[in-house]
Amino acid sequence: MKLIILGAPGSGKGTMATVLRDSYGITHISTGDIFRANIKEQTPLGKEAKKYIDAGALVPDEITISMVEDRLSQDDCKNGYLLDGFPRTIAQAEKLDEMLSKTNSKIDAVIKVDVPAEVILGRVVNRRVCTSCGESYNVVSRPTKVEGVCDVCGKEVIQRDDDKPETVKQRLITYEENTKPLIDFYEKKGIVISADNSKDPKTAFEQASQALEKKGFRKVN
Ligand code: ADP
Ligand code: ZN
Repeated sequence: MKLIILGAPGSGKGTMATVLRDSYGITHISTGDIFRANIKEQTPLGKEAKKYIDAGALVPDEITISMVEDRLSQDDCKNGYLLDGFPRTIAQAEKLDEMLSKTNSKIDAVIKVDVPAEVILGRVVNRRVCTSCGESYNVVSRPTKVEGVCDVCGKEVIQRDDDKPETVKQRLITYEENTKPLIDFYEKKGIVISADNSKDPKTAFEQASQALEKKGFRKVN
């Protein structure tokens, strides 16, 4: 089974991706993770990608597409995969179709993790992180025992700049703008599955797995 996952920052896409991977025994492929690993290892790909990523830009399609093509040809993709972070542009989506058609295959479904913007704002705005150990808190659902002090290491707990309401709103707008064309592209193929993640992750996963079941895909775990 070949899946794509789409979800706004703060939508819980990461958790959903992990559950899908484990339940269906498919490989999770995150282009962001691959780029970060290559940057860490200082590979030629990493050095090239870093220029764009540091500037807050997308890595050019040529580089991204050939990296994904290479990744999908590896053995652990034979049982299927979940693409996360790719495609991000229509050009990438078209290229992916072309790539898959060479082996007479196609994307089976696009899982769209839905959470209204105001719910995301509420979640992200309440998030706090430790400046030292990285432990994550929530002023409503998981506060520190002492305000502003990490339970784990005793260092300062703060709100990340990019978690501030104005920044989050802007990130959500950018996400919507960039993703809308992709959703339309896959809606036309009739393969978009919406998973409402505004309540709890279990409900969202159930919704997705029921839709996948109708397409004949069964959980292995
Ligand atoms: P985010 O910070 O939005 O969660 P990711 O972790 O998926 O992003 O990716 C980090 C960075 O890697 C992106 O900002 C972008 O520069 C690059 N990147 C990831 N996937 C792609 C892609 N499909 N096309 C172009 N660039 C990408
Ligand atoms: Zn800490």
